[in-house]
Amino acid sequence: MPRASKKCVFCGRKESEVPLLLQGRDGNICSDCVETAYHYIQQYVGVEAPPSTTKKASQPINLQSVPKPLAIKEYLDQYIIGQDDAKRVLSVAVYNHYKRLSLTPDMAKRDKEVEIEKSNIIMVGSTGTGKTLLARTIAKLLDVPFTIVDATVFTEAGYVGEDVESILSRLLQAADFDLERAERGIVFIDEIDKIARKSDNPSITRDVSGEGVQQAMLKLLEGSVVNVPPKGGRKHPDQDYIHVDTSHILFICGGAFDGIERKIAQRLGSHTVGYDSVQNARKIDTSDLMRYIQPQDLKSFGLIPEIIGRLPVLTYLNPLSREALSRILIEPKNSIIKQYERLLEMDGIALTFETEALDYIVDKAVEYKLGARGLRSIVEAIMTEAMFELPSSTQKSFVVTKAYAKEQISKTNSLQ
Ligand code: ADP
Repeated sequence: MPRASKKCVFCGRKESEVPLLLQGRDGNICSDCVETAYHYIQQYVGVEAPPSTTKKASQPINLQSVPKPLAIKEYLDQYIIGQDDAKRVLSVAVYNHYKRLSLTPDMAKRDKEVEIEKSNIIMVGSTGTGKTLLARTIAKLLDVPFTIVDATVFTEAGYVGEDVESILSRLLQAADFDLERAERGIVFIDEIDKIARKSDNPSITRDVSGEGVQQAMLKLLEGSVVNVPPKGGRKHPDQDYIHVDTSHILFICGGAFDGIERKIAQRLGSHTVGYDSVQNARKIDTSDLMRYIQPQDLKSFGLIPEIIGRLPVLTYLNPLSREALSRILIEPKNSIIKQYERLLEMDGIALTFETEALDYIVDKAVEYKLGARGLRSIVEAIMTEAMFELPSSTQKSFVVTKAYAKEQISKTNSLQ
């Protein structure tokens, strides 16, 4: 291999782009990734950190240690099947977010004229298509605190439910109450579509809970200092608050937005003049309307314009095809099938699934309409009996045939 083409197998950067490239037998690793790995080990195994690294959290991010969009996408490819558009958009947004974090206060002051704004993200796609998995995988890659919250548990102050500030309490918990780490974390807000107001026209129907929660969320999303009750839940007058600055926290929102295709179709159908007519001139694929999604469709759905403005990066996830479901079963690094093989391997048993059995699992998942989420429960139902009996048997191998899979499924009432 010519010297110039050597790369770090972790972040994908070339030798010329990294401070130092260490050579291994089958690949190379750069000094930045060694450092990141060291932090991981510190976190998980509890190795004591040298004094110089403990101070690091307060310093701006070193952009060199953040993988480039291409490397982020390649990393996501290992865990998530398909969804290429979403992966590309997310990779760029996350990279830009970290560019922003890499600016020192001095640099930011000098750059006053070109202020790089926060790039919070909104992902639209039906349930079980990989929205949470994408957000989670990005957090894993970047080694930042990550939390998932469900927008439906929040209500306006004064109503039964949680204050939106408790989103930040959870992030603090995920960061072990290290404020500086939490202030650079990622929050995934799921089911954002459920707090949409019910009508596009606020003067006709005022849906207090939905709109009120959206209003409350604004200040988190835009970047401000928020008083956070350390234990979550409701704010309480005699509680000590933690002041969390949200300007560097990346918010990723996700929602199914059921029925938004209709709004997209209406918009595409009603625009006949100007720029849109040029777009309409291209053939519109009506079976895949989601790819034409625009911020105004979110508004028609009931998100208030201020929220949409603070979620500038909009992307979508495709419904999973039969082919995608079958790849999800076996291909990702921690695919469901690989996990079961590993579990039985620990008992010294070689597990195999016949192709027809895998096809049968996919057929059932399509039938249940639960996206990839259904795959796990189906495999679980098929494997429970074997997982119960095999470890105490003398068997060294086990083959799941279609007939076996069918028989097991017919025994489980929950999946009938
Ligand atoms: P969503 O947030 O869109 O409802 P999730 O990300 O929670 O869906 O997906 C549920 C599960 O389905 C995940 O844990 C993962 O195992 C699997 N999954 C969904 N979509 C994909 C995908 N595109 N590639 C690989 N696995 C997927």
